[in-house]
Amino acid sequence: MKKIVECRNIYKNYYQGKLEVPVLKSINFVVNEGDYTAIVGPSGSGKSTLMNLIGCLDKATSGSLLIDGREVGSLSENELADIRLEKIGFVFQNFQLLGGQTALENVELPLTYANIPRKERREKAQQALGRVGLTDRMDFLPSQLSGGQKQRVAIARALVNNPRIVLADEPTGALDSRSGAQVMDLFEELNAEGVTVLVITHDQGIARRAKNRAEIIDGELGRL
Ligand code: ADP
Ligand code: MG
Repeated sequence: MKKIVECRNIYKNYYQGKLEVPVLKSINFVVNEGDYTAIVGPSGSGKSTLMNLIGCLDKATSGSLLIDGREVGSLSENELADIRLEKIGFVFQNFQLLGGQTALENVELPLTYANIPRKERREKAQQALGRVGLTDRMDFLPSQLSGGQKQRVAIARALVNNPRIVLADEPTGALDSRSGAQVMDLFEELNAEGVTVLVITHDQGIARRAKNRAEIIDGELGRL
């Protein structure tokens, strides 16, 4: 089975002034193609730090990270940006949509960065919004959408580049429990269609919805 994410003995330290604070300790972790995995842990345990490393938004202090078989630790900022664009779809707690742009325009954004021509952009964004059940909301602004709908727009944006993995950091954290459950239903559906999903959450109930789970406590990862 193809490994999409492989963390080998990863450490991440932050500096507070001159004090070095260890946040991730000896992380060994694999996400295979087709997995639907949750990492669960309390606030401050290092979940977002790990997500930012796997998403190539930050670099480890030591250890090795392979994305789709490629070591990313020594890549330049531009090369990392290409990996993010080509291989990773991001979903965040607070949606991160542009308020002045419609759902369709928000979903088109990654394709704009990837220099995809306008017509193809539009078609792909429409298709992605169809996958998340928002065909009838394409021309709405974020302010005209519910929280659950905003998160579905964000998921469509994450899917539109056909990434190797979707990374979701507390994707239900800003939603009521019903909308949160719908977001997890959607991940389940997408996973059944072949999308590889990694969800990070503090909520055990949300984590139980995934096919595989790992637990992070105080920067250390263990199997559940
Ligand atoms: P979680 O997402 O699980 O709540 P984080 O990964 O955000 O946890 O944070 C883990 C720990 O790292 C916390 O103790 C936090 O204070 C610390 N931390 C996070 N980001 C930084 C930073 N940029 N500088 C210093 N410390 C940080
Ligand atoms: Mg966090």
